[in-house]
Amino acid sequence: MTSSNLDIWTAALERTRKASPASFEQWFSSIQFDKLEPGRLELTARDEFVRDWVKTHFLPSLVNTIDELRAQGAPAAPDLGEPTQVEWRISSELNNPVCDGKTLRPAVRPRRLQVSEPPPPSSRPDSPSRFEAPSPARIQPVRASLKDVLNPKYTFENFVVGPSNELAYAAAMSSAGDDGPRYNPLFICGGTGLGKTHLVHAIAQRLLDQKPNARVIYVSAERFTNEFIEALQHQKMDEFRNRYRRECDLLLLDDIQFLAGREQTQEEFFHTFNALHEADRPIVVTSDTYPQQLQRMPERLVSRFTSGLVADVQVPRLETRVAIVRKKAQLEGIPLTDEVAVLLAQNVQSNVRELEGALIRLAAKSSLTGRPIDYEFASRELAAVAPRRQEPVSVQDIQRAVCNHFRLTNAELLSKDRHKSVAFARQVAMYLCRQRLRCSYPELGRSFGNRDHTTVMSAVRRVEALRQKDPQVNAHLEAIEQELASSGE
Ligand code: ADP
Ligand code: MG
Repeated sequence: MTSSNLDIWTAALERTRKASPASFEQWFSSIQFDKLEPGRLELTARDEFVRDWVKTHFLPSLVNTIDELRAQGAPAAPDLGEPTQVEWRISSELNNPVCDGKTLRPAVRPRRLQVSEPPPPSSRPDSPSRFEAPSPARIQPVRASLKDVLNPKYTFENFVVGPSNELAYAAAMSSAGDDGPRYNPLFICGGTGLGKTHLVHAIAQRLLDQKPNARVIYVSAERFTNEFIEALQHQKMDEFRNRYRRECDLLLLDDIQFLAGREQTQEEFFHTFNALHEADRPIVVTSDTYPQQLQRMPERLVSRFTSGLVADVQVPRLETRVAIVRKKAQLEGIPLTDEVAVLLAQNVQSNVRELEGALIRLAAKSSLTGRPIDYEFASRELAAVAPRRQEPVSVQDIQRAVCNHFRLTNAELLSKDRHKSVAFARQVAMYLCRQRLRCSYPELGRSFGNRDHTTVMSAVRRVEALRQKDPQVNAHLEAIEQELASSGE
């Protein structure tokens, strides 16, 4: 093996570790690196379980990095087009695992050379590891780990409430309240970047402010899984169960969808849930879908999730988005005019994380170039990032998007059919045309099969009202709006 192969392996491994510091050590102490050559990586795993986990969770990015580094190192070499294939061996005895205990070992030489090799440098006291030692994955004391994981900015005070999230917000406040939760469990669900994690961090921080000794656990489902597996591997199940079932006053489990198909962890969580529920301890779970839509989740868990309160967070409407931008700007000390706040909120519609990202980018660009964030600067920057979002759509575009969404033909949409689902789709299309294109009611009547303008007016009002109170209607509208945005791209 050439030294550049070793270097590539070492660098790729280090990047992988940085990406998942919490679970890296746990898995890579059961993996041995054997050989890397162009197009081929050889590894040994302690057993099939470890191999499969590493294959799914670490290999795609590890192999990508290897290929990337190789391409950078020798762009002219002819055989570099071949992506790296991984060959696995299984062996319960690993001579030289990738990391041991606290230390990530530097890359080792091929196994067949090891007989005459000195012990790996990391085990010699005078040879410090080339890597910063990762903290060992272990079950940490509740408060110590909590401090590390809670984002101090994710508080109730910093959360902007609007129609899209008011139920989730109120329910979260009640979970952290003095009288205990009104609903147990609380299941907060919704798309990515809409504030679920923010809310559960806020619950933890509020409770700890009020009761500093409360035993709060905030854990992602991924971490719960890793801790569970590690407890199994090291015969520490008693410790694990004590921590989650007995020494816990409030359990916040983030991103439950991660448990999909992980039957053993689901089983363990089921018993954890029951123990806490029976003891009247609040449980808050977040998910990217409604409980009934969770994939590969057993019915008994789904029915427990629905037994308390299911509160969703939706994409916030324009006014809420503007308020969020203002709040973030204030928190980050970014000077922002109202005009620019509205411009941002109009341009970034689908998720709050992206909205925040756009604001931070503007601020960074402004401080680099010394230009104030005025309207002109902001609109130019936003246009550069998302040039097509603003492209005009026509009545026909909207009708087409609505037909696609509801699986109707254009003729059906414009017909006199009063069947409920067709009529609803038609009303939605009228509403979107009015909202997006500002067409007059008589004009719209003509575009929709020569209908009377009063029919259009009442359709628009009906959808407007439904959107406020019915999350399903809102979801339909968001999906169509998204389709319109992406069809312009
Ligand atoms: P999720 O867990 O739903 O994917 P997060 O809670 O991580 O989303 O939120 C993404 C970002 O958006 C965070 O920085 C969060 O503070 C912010 N955010 C989302 N909703 C709101 C809101 N209503 N008010 C203030 N910030 C919000
Ligand atoms: Mg989250």
